[in-house]
Amino acid sequence: MPLESLYDLSFKTLQSRLLSDGVRPIHAVQLWKLLYYELEPDPNTSDMLSPPLRRWLKAALEESLTLSQPSVCDRLDSSDGLTKKLLLRLHDGQEIETVVMGYPGRFTACISSQAGCAMGCVFCATGQMGFVRHLSHGEIVTQVMEAQRLLRAEGNKLRNLVLMGMGEPLHNYDVVMEALASVCHLPGIGIAPSRISVSTVGLVPGIIRFTEERLPYSLAISLHAATDAERSALLPVNQRWPLSELMEACRYYSRKLQRKVFFGWTLIAGQNDSADHALVLLELLQGLDAHVNLIRLNRTAGFSGRTSEEPSTTAFQKAIQEAGVPCTVRQYRGIDVAAGCGQLRADRQKFKSPEIECPPNKASAVS
Ligand code: SAH
Ligand code: SF4
Repeated sequence: MPLESLYDLSFKTLQSRLLSDGVRPIHAVQLWKLLYYELEPDPNTSDMLSPPLRRWLKAALEESLTLSQPSVCDRLDSSDGLTKKLLLRLHDGQEIETVVMGYPGRFTACISSQAGCAMGCVFCATGQMGFVRHLSHGEIVTQVMEAQRLLRAEGNKLRNLVLMGMGEPLHNYDVVMEALASVCHLPGIGIAPSRISVSTVGLVPGIIRFTEERLPYSLAISLHAATDAERSALLPVNQRWPLSELMEACRYYSRKLQRKVFFGWTLIAGQNDSADHALVLLELLQGLDAHVNLIRLNRTAGFSGRTSEEPSTTAFQKAIQEAGVPCTVRQYRGIDVAAGCGQLRADRQKFKSPEIECPPNKASAVS
């Protein structure tokens, strides 16, 4: 039987394992706290475990469980010290990214949900890699643990979580939602659900399910274009779920849960950053409780589009705001870190692949 990582067990699964092995499930709280609050790297040797729990863990590690976790294999810090990017190596050699970002008074981790991505958005370094595989519960939770470890070492604490790293979270729906429940579970990492944001490229059935399950996290939709022709050229997924279906799902979510919808709009010079584009976007958002987040394009090796100029970005933002729709520009962060989605991994691969001529991208941004 292949061994399963202890970090792949949800709290409920851990409780039922204990119960079926004759250990009172109440002990799960103690182990959970040790793993996810204390962040104990070797729970097996900890003297914080009660004797029955220690015996159970010892036996489980001999028979069916491992303590296998992704390892941090690279770290890049921006020169202003505000953005830290970790590259984690998984058991099969795949590499994923986790970014820790500092803002005044708060810290946010941006985590990955898949190795690679199947959605193929043309400007995205992860999309350009293609899909490798879904991440497991443990691989998602470990990213949050590593972010917390890093911050704790500096005397800080993780407050917010965004699923805006590599991969499409709603394509790995069950595992992502179970992992999010685990990072909220106390006494563990204990992130408040209201401080978690899930970003999707627009998988309509996933948005509907998210709404019907009344999940307590914020939802962000990566829109980037407000006509089907323009959106399909950037995001192939639009051919499967065109804007009419996507917007209907967003309206359903907003109406049913009485929540604001956050829309991401990556500004690409001459392609979606003009005053006319802003007007078409406003039409699409009419009557919806919306917030628009503008992101200035991080250039990637596989896409020739250019980053929107500062004046176009400002004019776009002003047009949206003047129509009464809140609109923010994500701050440039980690300008000297390859900090765009999938870029640290892509850059490492570039170093290994002499046939790619682009120099490693140093002018990257992350919010
Ligand atoms: N798959 C999800 C979440 C991960 S991508 C999604 O697409 O929403 C997180 C955000 O980064 C998305 O809004 C995505 O469009 C944006 N993004 C990806 N590559 C980018 C790039 N090169 N420059 C700017 N934004 C980018
Ligand atoms: Fe996947 Fe999001 Fe990148 Fe699109 S932008 S390829 S959905 S990670």
